[in-house]
Amino acid sequence: MTVLVFIDPAHPGGRVADPDAPQLSVLDPGVTRGDGVFESALYTGGKVRKLEMHLSRMAVSAQVTDLIIPSAGAWRAAIATAISQYDAAASPGAAPAESVVKLIATRGAESADGVHDYGSAWVTVSPAPELGRRQRETGIDVLLLDRGYDSTVAERAPWLLMGAKTLSYAVNMAAIRHAKRNGADDVIFTSSDGRVLEGPTSTVLLATRERDEAGREVKRLVTPTLETGILPGTTQGAIFAAAKAEGWELGYGPVEPKHLREAAGVWLVSSVRLLTPVNSLDGEAINTDAKLTAELSAMVDSIN
Ligand code: PLP
Repeated sequence: MTVLVFIDPAHPGGRVADPDAPQLSVLDPGVTRGDGVFESALYTGGKVRKLEMHLSRMAVSAQVTDLIIPSAGAWRAAIATAISQYDAAASPGAAPAESVVKLIATRGAESADGVHDYGSAWVTVSPAPELGRRQRETGIDVLLLDRGYDSTVAERAPWLLMGAKTLSYAVNMAAIRHAKRNGADDVIFTSSDGRVLEGPTSTVLLATRERDEAGREVKRLVTPTLETGILPGTTQGAIFAAAKAEGWELGYGPVEPKHLREAAGVWLVSSVRLLTPVNSLDGEAINTDAKLTAELSAMVDSIN
């Protein structure tokens, strides 16, 4: 079941539409060029998790792509309409425990100044994929794949839109298909100069455990630095805030593949799949730590 609500100036709370009927122009640049921005948030326990973080990141993605999108207030109103319709449509006692709220805005018609108003903007709510929930429990096998850019490309070539969440995810999906064809579940991209970047739909975290001089255990959580052109993950941000409050040390890469192999644990994190342990890299088992996974999962559960 999917609920669809368009942002439409003629309908202040959003315009409910049929997700199974044609809705978009075949000329919409979101369709013809994958030109637009989006967000995926988790709806669970009656709440859209980290909504404000998603709205802020969407605003940054829009700015980076010279796109004017609806206001945060218009998104909030459309989301409220969508989830009330979604909840009402669920059979009593059988509402999905976890659902995905997607916000999408495509580019509108050409303009002389290069800054474009949005063409279409809509919200969907649908059940979260079962596979992601299963992978949280089983963990995943991951391939390291070269993204083909070096780790300084984001600053040198801003037109590549590194770090913006745009609709151009065909490359990310192709990487996941490549992994699956080769017996793995997912991917961690590396840069051409050997840095660990991110997953096609996730942020990479690794943890180390050491002893300080006094013999106390020091737990450290590390993620690749944003300068490499990766998307700033809202889940990573929220986990880091929770880990800091619990006394963990935090580190922001450079991360290299050897650090993943030496770590106590490696996870892919994202808003809908949440925290997924990595069991192997390129076919070789790496360390997993059920206790750390449980600790980090508890932090993820506390995010709201
Ligand atoms: N990196 C990429 C490329 C992504 O597509 C995503 C999420 O879809 C993430 C990281 C994780 O971001 P978040 O935790 O905000 O969902």
